[in-house]
Amino acid sequence: MTVTTPVPPAALHHWAGGTPVDGESGRFADVTDPATGATTARVPLASAADAARVIATARAAFPAWRDASLARRTKILFAFRALLDARADELAQIITAEHGKVLADAAGEVARGLEVVEFACGMPHLLKGSATENASTNVDVASIRQPLGVVGIISPFNFPAMVPMWFFPIAIAAGNTVVLKPSEKVPGAALWMARLWQEAGLPDGVFNVLNGDKEAVDALLTSPDVAAVSFVGSTPVARYVHRTATEHGKRVQALGGAKNHMVVLPDADLDLAADQAVNAGFGSAGERCMAISAVVAVGDIADRLVAAIADRARALRTGDGRRGADMGPLVTRAALDRVTGYIDAGQQAGATLALDGRTARYDADGDGFFVGPTLFDHVTTDMSIYTDEIFGPVLSVLRVDTYDEALDLVNRNPYGNGTAIYTHDGGAARRFQNEVEVGMVGINVPVPVPMAYYSFGGWKNSLFGDTHAHGTDGVHFYTRTKVVTTRWPDPSHRGVDLGFPRNA
Ligand code: NAD
Repeated sequence: MTVTTPVPPAALHHWAGGTPVDGESGRFADVTDPATGATTARVPLASAADAARVIATARAAFPAWRDASLARRTKILFAFRALLDARADELAQIITAEHGKVLADAAGEVARGLEVVEFACGMPHLLKGSATENASTNVDVASIRQPLGVVGIISPFNFPAMVPMWFFPIAIAAGNTVVLKPSEKVPGAALWMARLWQEAGLPDGVFNVLNGDKEAVDALLTSPDVAAVSFVGSTPVARYVHRTATEHGKRVQALGGAKNHMVVLPDADLDLAADQAVNAGFGSAGERCMAISAVVAVGDIADRLVAAIADRARALRTGDGRRGADMGPLVTRAALDRVTGYIDAGQQAGATLALDGRTARYDADGDGFFVGPTLFDHVTTDMSIYTDEIFGPVLSVLRVDTYDEALDLVNRNPYGNGTAIYTHDGGAARRFQNEVEVGMVGINVPVPVPMAYYSFGGWKNSLFGDTHAHGTDGVHFYTRTKVVTTRWPDPSHRGVDLGFPRNA
């Protein structure tokens, strides 16, 4: 018999000024391995005083980093890119161990984050301003972009590496210093990336990690030393973050939750649509803000589509993400209870349960947080499985007769993050692209996450603020414009004139 000694949970810390820092709050949260249910680490939850110290470190590092040349900054960015590329597997392992998503998915998340690092390597080009010679006689005008100061980044549990990387490469390359507040459920990736920055040569204090919960968030939202806040998480918290940070005079972008619809028109390739509904509905156990959670079947295809999705979903292997499963566990036991509660509610509300994940078998040791792929048919818009963001592997099929009904359904939903349409009809797809009130649209593409050089963001309750993440929106968010008007006078310009300056 093999006797395994339990490994004591690792004691985690904050990261400030290039070194691990213990908090003084005396509050901690457990970090679990969702596939086994074991507690693997204890993360400190910062007090306001802990947060103030980390913010002060970032504040102190700002003047020198702002003045570092673009050549120096981008050299460090390139070094970070090379290290991240070489050691992506290490980061993927950390993500799987804390979040539960399968290793291939974790590696995919790192790859998408890496794309933003690569985009930020082009900062010398992106920061170029404009200049006009002789705007008025002997007067030149130039527009330049300057960094803001300390930037707070508050991220959700579901992308421990990619979501922070939507923001910090651009913020840092533009000359800001950063305090990252990762989700307390998955702090490992942020701390690992902090060490990588140090290895890449980033000066101490430019990238800092503040672990914690609402208390740490509130400290970032209200500190006079934080100039801007980028938030990603659920809609109620996004709304709160936007309001509070705005009241405290900060620039803020707050990305919220989602309920993403896939509209399948009668002419669509149903096998393709079924494949993609399964990929986009059950990938990462549905814990993606761009997951498809509602399939809208238009016309008489619904029976065939539901059967095709159920066949594929039934064949998925659920289990420990390190063992080659297709789908991993949910992030916590609370998330598991929440998702199974929604499945109970859907059944009680009268939706047809075509596949029940509560009874699924899974491949893992211990007591992990597993629920299998779940498919509901005949879902109506008053059911909680439709109105709420479940954030689990639960796909709902709604049946409508026409394109107009499908469009109306999507547009009436309060969320507007992503959507997709499946069709061979270019005219219908073009109408949908034009008429749908959603920020990111896929045409025969189920998870239309924009490339790093475009910007990521939803509409309606999926985003508060007006700038999206990364791309040119990201560069604009982390810089402010200064316009400089210059004249080098000669003696003929002397003399007092109180009139409003006119151009000549
Ligand atoms: P969450 O809102 O619970 O937490 C997000 C962050 O806010 C965490 O760092 C957390 O510590 C902090 N937080 C939690 N409650 C808070 C409170 N009351 N006051 C202040 N801060 C608080 O979200 P989550 O469960 O970690 O992530 C899942 C959610 O994020 C889903 O709704 C998902 O759709 C959304 N999400 C959105 C996008 C997007 O791009 N729109 C991307 C990823 C995730």
